[in-house]
Amino acid sequence: MQEVGHFIGGKHVASTSGRNQNIMQPMDGSVRGTVALGSKKELRDAVENAKAAQPAWAATNPQRRVRVLMKFLELVHKEYDSLAELLAREHGKTIADAKGDIQRGLEVVEVCIGAPHMLKGEYTDGAGPGIDIYSMRQPLGVVAGITPFNFPAMIPLWKIGPAIASGNAFILKPSERDPGVPMRIAELFLEAGLPAGILNVVNGDKEVVDAILDDPDIKAIGFVGSTPIAQYIYSRAAATGKRAQCFGGAKNHMIIMPDADMDQTVDALIGAGYGSAGERCMAVSVAVPVGQETADRLVEKLIPRVESLKVGPSTDSSADFGPLVTQQALERVKGYVDLGVKEGAKLVVDGRGFKMQGYENGYYMGGCLFDEVTPDMRIYKEEIFGPVLSVVRAKTYEDALKLPNEHEYGNGVAIFTRDGDAARDFASRVQVGMVGVNVPIPVPIAYYTFGGWKGSAFGDLNQHGPDAFRFYTKTKSVTARWPSGIKDGAEFVIPTMN
Ligand code: NAD
Repeated sequence: MQEVGHFIGGKHVASTSGRNQNIMQPMDGSVRGTVALGSKKELRDAVENAKAAQPAWAATNPQRRVRVLMKFLELVHKEYDSLAELLAREHGKTIADAKGDIQRGLEVVEVCIGAPHMLKGEYTDGAGPGIDIYSMRQPLGVVAGITPFNFPAMIPLWKIGPAIASGNAFILKPSERDPGVPMRIAELFLEAGLPAGILNVVNGDKEVVDAILDDPDIKAIGFVGSTPIAQYIYSRAAATGKRAQCFGGAKNHMIIMPDADMDQTVDALIGAGYGSAGERCMAVSVAVPVGQETADRLVEKLIPRVESLKVGPSTDSSADFGPLVTQQALERVKGYVDLGVKEGAKLVVDGRGFKMQGYENGYYMGGCLFDEVTPDMRIYKEEIFGPVLSVVRAKTYEDALKLPNEHEYGNGVAIFTRDGDAARDFASRVQVGMVGVNVPIPVPIAYYTFGGWKGSAFGDLNQHGPDAFRFYTKTKSVTARWPSGIKDGAEFVIPTMN
């Protein structure tokens, strides 16, 4: 049984809060250990540590800073398999999927090796008589990240990479459900040469989050999780004068035009709807076939595919997806399926009764498929975050477009078609932050930025790519005139750039 405390000042620190919670293994419902639920004082210790270490790190030239990132990548590659297994055992996703979780995080760290270029300022020679103006990007100081359970490697790395490459010290508050990989990431950064105190991990729940929100020395917060918490963090961070980018929940639609290749569409939907048991913020949870005939063909092909999905323990390399993260998550998702039936949707594949032989205490359910879902139903409006796909039938393209446009969330969306004109129109008019054209999960590559619209994100800068460097730095502009200007005597009016 492991006891996970905190990682502060380059060391494992046992918690003194007196509160902790079990770390579960979703594939069999066993207890792996406990994780500390930290206190305000413990958060403050981490901040003091970070504050003391940050100035020297900021003064280290950016090329030297990113050499630590290069070494970190090398170290992760050496233990990719064991890290993926740890991730899968704590989260429940399959090991192959856990490798993807790590990989998409590393890609952002790779891009951060170009931080010296991203951090360059601007310069105008001769902006006025004898006047030059230049700008520089400086780190914010101590910054924090609060991350969700569903990508315990990727999302912490999306934040740690650009934050520390920019010269900040970073405090991570990972999900209390799967803290093992974030803790290992902190150890590996230390081993890679990151000075102690530049990356601290404080485990916990609302108590630590609130302490982060109120701490006067934390200058920025990057949050990823559900929308109600994203909204809470955004508003409270703003009230205490912090920079905040808060990414929330999703309901991602896939529009299927009558000309789409139906076999490719079904393959794409199955992977995007049920991979990782639907516990991805970019999972497709609503399929929108356009026209009766398209809908009938789609549902007919989908049913046998959903029925034959292979659910298995995280360590089974032939499983399509594993268990849900917790017993509560399993009950919540099954509750939504019950609700959909009550609301009048047609449950054409029912995975509620699935039991995994030999793993009876694991949090498993089979894939579920609803047909004839309508926009007034709660199963359409709310994020289910499980292996449940809803088919909403649209009469026309315009009706289909209206659905994501009027939905509260706006994270990801896709259109499947062979028609370039429809695809162009869709990409231009849809009110969603990340759009796929014949790509079901359009997560932008690391040198672009990631972020939804509407209820899926609060704040104005996205994650990773150039936005991340803007988020983790402040711009200073310097207007300089050298002594030759002084000889002309004092000026009594505001100088203009004539
Ligand atoms: P969550 O909101 O329950 O938790 C996220 C973080 O907030 C955790 O670190 C948790 O400890 C903390 N937290 C939880 N309740 C809190 C409270 N009352 N006060 C303060 N802090 C609190 O989310 P989750 O269940 O871990 O993750 C799943 C959610 O994250 C889904 O809604 C999913 O769509 C979303 N998500 C969004 C993105 C994105 O980029 N938009 C990416 C991944 C996940």
